[in-house]
Amino acid sequence: MKELFIFEVFIITYDLIIIGGGPSGATAAKIAAESSAKVLLLEAAEEGRYKCCAGGIPVRNEEFSSIPRGVDVREITGGVLFTPKSGPMEFDASGKNNKGFCMFRTDFDKHLVNIAQDAGAQIKYKFRVKKIEINKDSSVKVQGPEEYQSKCVILATGLGGAQLQRQIGLEVPPMINGIQAEFEVPESVIDEQFGNRVWEFFDRSLIDHGIAWVFPKSQALSIGVLGNGVKVSHLKEFLQKSFIREKIEGRDMKVFGGRKVWAAPIPDRMIAKPYRERVMVIGDACGTADPILYEGIYQARLSGKLAAETFCQALEKEDFGESKLARYNELLLKHLYEEDLRYSYKFHQLLYHSGLLERVIEASYLMAQEDPEMMQSTIALFTGSETRKHSWEVMMSRKWKLIKLMGIKNSLKLLPTLVHALRI
Ligand SMILES: Cc1cc2nc3c(=O)[nH]c(=O)nc-3n(C[C@H](O)[C@H](O)[C@H](O)COP(=O)(O)OP(=O)(O)OC[C@H]3O[C@@H](n4cnc5c(N)ncnc54)[C@H](O)[C@@H]3O)c2cc1C
Repeated sequence: MKELFIFEVFIITYDLIIIGGGPSGATAAKIAAESSAKVLLLEAAEEGRYKCCAGGIPVRNEEFSSIPRGVDVREITGGVLFTPKSGPMEFDASGKNNKGFCMFRTDFDKHLVNIAQDAGAQIKYKFRVKKIEINKDSSVKVQGPEEYQSKCVILATGLGGAQLQRQIGLEVPPMINGIQAEFEVPESVIDEQFGNRVWEFFDRSLIDHGIAWVFPKSQALSIGVLGNGVKVSHLKEFLQKSFIREKIEGRDMKVFGGRKVWAAPIPDRMIAKPYRERVMVIGDACGTADPILYEGIYQARLSGKLAAETFCQALEKEDFGESKLARYNELLLKHLYEEDLRYSYKFHQLLYHSGLLERVIEASYLMAQEDPEMMQSTIALFTGSETRKHSWEVMMSRKWKLIKLMGIKNSLKLLPTLVHALRI
């Protein structure tokens, strides 16, 4: 009895424990700590871990905190699209709200965690959480190399925490796969061959349900493929395409953690219920990534912000019950789903489930050539400068033109998918 008492006393208690130090967790930690809550962020990896990611960061991330500038960050001011029949289809994204940045996630994530620490959050690296125990009426116990206790927990584990999610009865989002390698390329060569532009490839003969890309970072090119069932062989095939092969001939792949080629999952859909008493789920773990180009950093951070705000309100009332935390889901639906993700699912349907991925891209780009509004809303699909809802409305107001441009046979094929997409 005495031993049990001593053990209980030494468990350190926090207002909030955040599990996972990626963009979602770090953003939530910063916002909660700014409100003077006692926050602990637990990250399984060591400080400065490599994260498999193309590292494209739209400027709208500055809604949460400034994006670092400098030698390790490439400012992106345009894009180039390719299909097997067409390309380069170029677009300019140099406007204030359109531009973006490319950088290694090692640097970006460290920057975000540092900001959270400056705001007052306590950080622990190399702490893999193995178990969560929820006591509805009092607290949550989080167990790993040590044990901590808090009033509330935010799960920000990306797709690496599926086991934890299931353990406490929460759903795990469906996922697809991303595979990439980073090539060492001198800055002058990147400037000449790729410039400050992201390159996206739409080719169903390579990947049936997905895309390939080249993103220029600082002294490196991130080259990868993503989609349903994508394997290393898909990346190898992409690297053999003449356009890519010529440009990376003789270049070395960078090695991270002893590996040259990295794979990681990306969520495909949001989960239906990302909360329960004393727990909220954010970012990839909640399935917030956008399934048009599968970027997820901004969305993860937005969900982190909404969960942190919900936590702060719950802390004022000392009420972390399920009905109180349901507010997080309401905010998520309002700010992420209704204006954006719902329409991304429509675009996803049209692009990846019509069998006409390349044709839709080509026809949209052609239409945009003489239609500034269409051009801006197409660019916004890559930069996030307008809501997905707006881009969808612009495209649907021109659907007959799109259908005409695609020709009768393709249009007949497109119609059932279009009808399905309209119903989402
Ligand atoms: C190949 C590829 C390319 C991508 N390119 C882009 C892009 O260009 N732009 C973009 O916006 N998005 C991109 N994404 C998506 C983006 O990486 C994710 O959406 C984003 O990282 C989600 O952030 P998060 O904080 O939710 O999760 P993560 O960034 O995955 O962070 C989760 C953290 O939790 C930690 N963790 C997991 N389990 C535990 C545990 N049990 N205990 C403690 N810590 C734990 C992990 O170590 C990790 O650091 C890409 C993804 C892939 C796979």
